[in-house]
Amino acid sequence: MSETDGKYEFQSEAKQVLDLMIHSVYSNPDIFLRELISNASDALDKLRIASLSDESLGFSQDEAKITVRLDPEAKTISVSDNGMGMSRDDLIAFLGTIAKSGTKEFISAMREARGNGDLIGQFGVGFYSSFIVSNRVTVDSRKAGSDESWLWDSTGDGTFTISPGTRTGWGTDVTLHVKDTEKDDDEAPEAKNYLSRWALREIIKKYSDFVSYPIFIEDASEKKPDDKKEEKPEPVNSMKALWIRPEPSVTDEEYNEFYKHVSHDWENPMERIVYKAEGTNEFYALLFIPSRPPFDLFYRDGKHGIELYIRRVFIMNDCRDLMPEYLRFVRGVVDSEDLPLNVSREILQQDHLTSLIKRGLVRKVLDALKKMKSDKPDEYKKFWGMFGEVLKEGIVSDTKNREALMKLALFNSSKSGQTSLDDYAANMKEGQKSIYYITGGKSDALSSSPKLEVFRDRGIDVLLLSDPIDELWIPSVHEFESHHFANAAAADTEIEGGDAESKSEETPGDSFISGVRDALKELGQFASVEDVRYSSRLVGSPATFVQKGEPMSPQMRNFFRSMGQEAPPEHKILEINASHPLVRKISNQEGRDLKDWAVLLAGLASISDGEPLADAPAFTETLVKLLGE
Ligand code: ADP
Repeated sequence: MSETDGKYEFQSEAKQVLDLMIHSVYSNPDIFLRELISNASDALDKLRIASLSDESLGFSQDEAKITVRLDPEAKTISVSDNGMGMSRDDLIAFLGTIAKSGTKEFISAMREARGNGDLIGQFGVGFYSSFIVSNRVTVDSRKAGSDESWLWDSTGDGTFTISPGTRTGWGTDVTLHVKDTEKDDDEAPEAKNYLSRWALREIIKKYSDFVSYPIFIEDASEKKPDDKKEEKPEPVNSMKALWIRPEPSVTDEEYNEFYKHVSHDWENPMERIVYKAEGTNEFYALLFIPSRPPFDLFYRDGKHGIELYIRRVFIMNDCRDLMPEYLRFVRGVVDSEDLPLNVSREILQQDHLTSLIKRGLVRKVLDALKKMKSDKPDEYKKFWGMFGEVLKEGIVSDTKNREALMKLALFNSSKSGQTSLDDYAANMKEGQKSIYYITGGKSDALSSSPKLEVFRDRGIDVLLLSDPIDELWIPSVHEFESHHFANAAAADTEIEGGDAESKSEETPGDSFISGVRDALKELGQFASVEDVRYSSRLVGSPATFVQKGEPMSPQMRNFFRSMGQEAPPEHKILEINASHPLVRKISNQEGRDLKDWAVLLAGLASISDGEPLADAPAFTETLVKLLGE
């Protein structure tokens, strides 16, 4: 080894992903070539964009190309590009680490799924997929503007080496030493099958036909005709932008493969949207809704899925200005006819055209979802299960489309399982004007809350708003089509409509209530209880807490605490069920000290609300004492 040579360890996450690559069984190993060609095409895009501001880099569209070379004798396949290339530091950083947030969580999910190759697709491992079909990979690269080449070399065993390379021009050669099925690994794909021009051509046509640079295949075993003048080779791919072709001329398979190219997903999309906007602001859009959530859906720096092209030229990926946050799961391409080619992220942010395009795209996506909801309700339910929580962010942030988003939303509910607001309104009980809801926790726990007893009794449906985002949109949305939203846990919510099956009997009288109130006041642990009263909402439970004003769920309070903030003060009222046998029994014991019973009733109310007990040992002691009597 020379002075500049070095041996390096992969970052531990990268090592684990590599291990998964090497040992998992893949349903589709062919995608390694798609990944390498995508990287080559990205490197050419990078060089083209960099040379706009640095003339010395000199990008030439006519010379830009990707070459796939196979050597059946040496058992190698290499993918070469004359793009941006990588420096020595780049090789170490880009091919030795994984900088994506959520990598750790992804790896543990993969482990649990025991090498489920489909999960990997969600993550988009790119370069590392080379190790599915090969047992050694070398990367010889020269960065644009530099006169040094460097060679990255690894057998995927946890380390890689860096030494001087041999590449003479700018760009990169990635060479795979393909696995020998018999010798290396019984489970390895039929690697030898890749060592033919025909096989590689099929894969490229299938997965990378639309790549905008020409892709050539060279076979070292084919003799060059020495007498004839060499013919100009034809690229394998058509390089046609799929999004400008009329929809009927493109097959589903072509669309699906394109989706996989832009999304790094391995599965077909759930829905596609093909759109051409005409008039003063012309653009093409080819958008997809994935059939499963990307792994980084809830990470702040998670990927956004829109690539921007201007007049067929790639400009940037991850284009956040064209799609709002709440549609960050949408993948695809937007190709504008009118934006200037030298547009930057900063200019895009302020450009009037950008906001017009964004508005058009949002409308198209929401229309497509609306159609899916009415035409394919089962599929839509699946969609909602995966992306509903994200879409609901739009109810808070996108006031212009709030109405449309509310109509798209599905909610778990106590009576009908799942409902839209339209259906809820259509199925209201006679005399019912409000839309009732309850927030917090998990929807199964919510549905058995004592606060819903009277609603169940009267046949009234209640929305179970268990996503954290629900408590953010509810305060800003007061009504849906003139029906007020009313919280079932609020002290002053009137319960209208429906016929009660069980009629409440006479109450035990005010002295019992004031006795419990006085007892609670004396006990320090119930400071937040402001009042005690008989309940009109309980049927089967003895007691519950309701809140004055807008109740905040225990989960939301915890969230405040975890952010180091004080949650707003609680104004609790303990409601007691006058007709419950336990309450009747206590209230009939005249002259008795109510302290223990007050602790019991308040404690039971806390437990059924999913709240921690203010003083658990005192509660247990009291319970044991009362049971022993
Ligand atoms: P991704 O493409 O999703 O970022 P990869 O693992 O495929 O992940 O590649 C990691 C990084 O290595 C790329 O982001 C890019 O910076 C660099 N890279 C890979 N292949 C090439 C190439 N042919 N030319 C230049 N850079 C490359």
